[in-house]
Amino acid sequence: MGVLENLPHLYSQMEEAYNQAAARIGLSCRECPDNCCTSYFQHHTYIEWAYLWKGIRSCSHEKQRQYMNRAAEYVTQSRALLAQGLRPRIMCPLNDNGFCQLYKYRLMICRMHGIPNSFVRPDGKKMSFPGCFRCQDLCSHLKDVPVLDRTPFYRDLASLEMDFVGPKIKTLPRVNLTLAEMLVHGPPKI
Ligand code: SF4
Ligand code: SF4
Repeated sequence: MGVLENLPHLYSQMEEAYNQAAARIGLSCRECPDNCCTSYFQHHTYIEWAYLWKGIRSCSHEKQRQYMNRAAEYVTQSRALLAQGLRPRIMCPLNDNGFCQLYKYRLMICRMHGIPNSFVRPDGKKMSFPGCFRCQDLCSHLKDVPVLDRTPFYRDLASLEMDFVGPKIKTLPRVNLTLAEMLVHGPPKI
């Protein structure tokens, strides 16, 4: 079994931790007036990039073409907004009618958004995120707010990344791409 095939197991652990915290908070995305798939963020691993492409290749040619066209448009629009000093708020190319079309293949950051979470960076700095607006509202009524510690997931992902990339990890450029850029660039070249 290739290293890539270990990623879904880690993803399902993340999902379980997320669902437990969301259940304690009472958070559900159902009928949410917002859609966080318009959030602008980057992803940082080759293994997630490659797994996303596995998902893309599982789609029909027509769908793949549609996602690629949307991704190209996303990249053009987001760069124009960034050049004006604005943070892009554009729907992810993989979202149709509010739903992720590659849910099984979505990346770690997509999986953790929503609930309060934190992680400790390798340099020891703790980063904290309050969760989405809906979650923050629900948490304001809670005495004991569950905060998901993402650190073990980051560590496991980093370890899978090292196994996936191998010794080239020292020389390859650091991944810092939006999902749309990951589509436009094509699968990672390792
Ligand atoms: S994570 Fe929060 S903002 Fe995003 S869709 Fe779910 S409830 Fe809405
Ligand atoms: S990959 Fe899926 S969950 Fe992540 S931003 Fe895109 S549509 Fe949303």
